[in-house]
Amino acid sequence: MFLAHGATMQEEINLPSAQQRIVSYLRRLVNVPPNVLLLEGGTRQERERLGLLWAALLNCRSGDPCGSCPTCRQIGNESYRDLYILRGGEESIKIDDVRPYRWILADKPFESYRVVLFSEAQELTTPAANALLKSLEEPLPGNVFVLLTPQRHLLLSTLLSRSYPFTLSHGTGDRGREEEREVGSWLDSLLCFWQSGTGLFEHTGKKKAVDRILLGDILLALQRELYRVYLGEETRGTAAFLRRNLSSEYWSRLDLALKKAEEILGHQVNPPLILEWLALTVWNWLREESGSSSKLS
Ligand SMILES: [Zn+2]
Repeated sequence: MFLAHGATMQEEINLPSAQQRIVSYLRRLVNVPPNVLLLEGGTRQERERLGLLWAALLNCRSGDPCGSCPTCRQIGNESYRDLYILRGGEESIKIDDVRPYRWILADKPFESYRVVLFSEAQELTTPAANALLKSLEEPLPGNVFVLLTPQRHLLLSTLLSRSYPFTLSHGTGDRGREEEREVGSWLDSLLCFWQSGTGLFEHTGKKKAVDRILLGDILLALQRELYRVYLGEETRGTAAFLRRNLSSEYWSRLDLALKKAEEILGHQVNPPLILEWLALTVWNWLREESGSSSKLS
């Protein structure tokens, strides 16, 4: 349920105050809703609540939305007849899952807006996404789409380019300290590999060692390290190591390599392969720079 029973919009949907900012943006969009709204960040539950809130904003006749009319209640318990939810997660969203929508979307909605919501939209397979493209691009009046995903660069680029994105705040949610530690230990493995040539493939070789979300976080962390390389303030850790052992020409190459890795991540390539490719690319640069025999410091 997106509204606790009897809650006012201000106490609404138990969203942390950090996410209330998005609610006010969504309110402003109601009169000219984008074809495809993209909500990234936050927790899965927060994204879904906001997606339902968006459906209620578009359909509740008492405005704002009221949270207590039949429309709001049905949207809240996902029984509203103009609301469709497809959830990725354990499994991908396949073409057979989206095929019926060609017929559904061809009809007018029963009420104001038909809302088709994809939770964990990064799980849409390429054929499924392709089957939807035309509907996303030129929807019939009354059809709107919502894509929910932890990070927008996990989405297929064809979907991303058609979306109107909002970023929910991180840090209140299910990706907290534990994930930070995990990202930190992967950065340590990378550094160890670049110094010694060992210690990485043992980790990436483990089944499900790195999923796409974790790799997205690792790439972000590396981007931050690269920023520190440019600043030149670090005396230890990854940034200091890269600064000591790579000339500035390679810093911009690393920037491009990180962007490329992000892009490939959107094409459903196996995440450990992307990480290994990135690790080896940098490793080769380090050897080019130092001459194959000299030791890295
Ligand atoms: Zn209502």
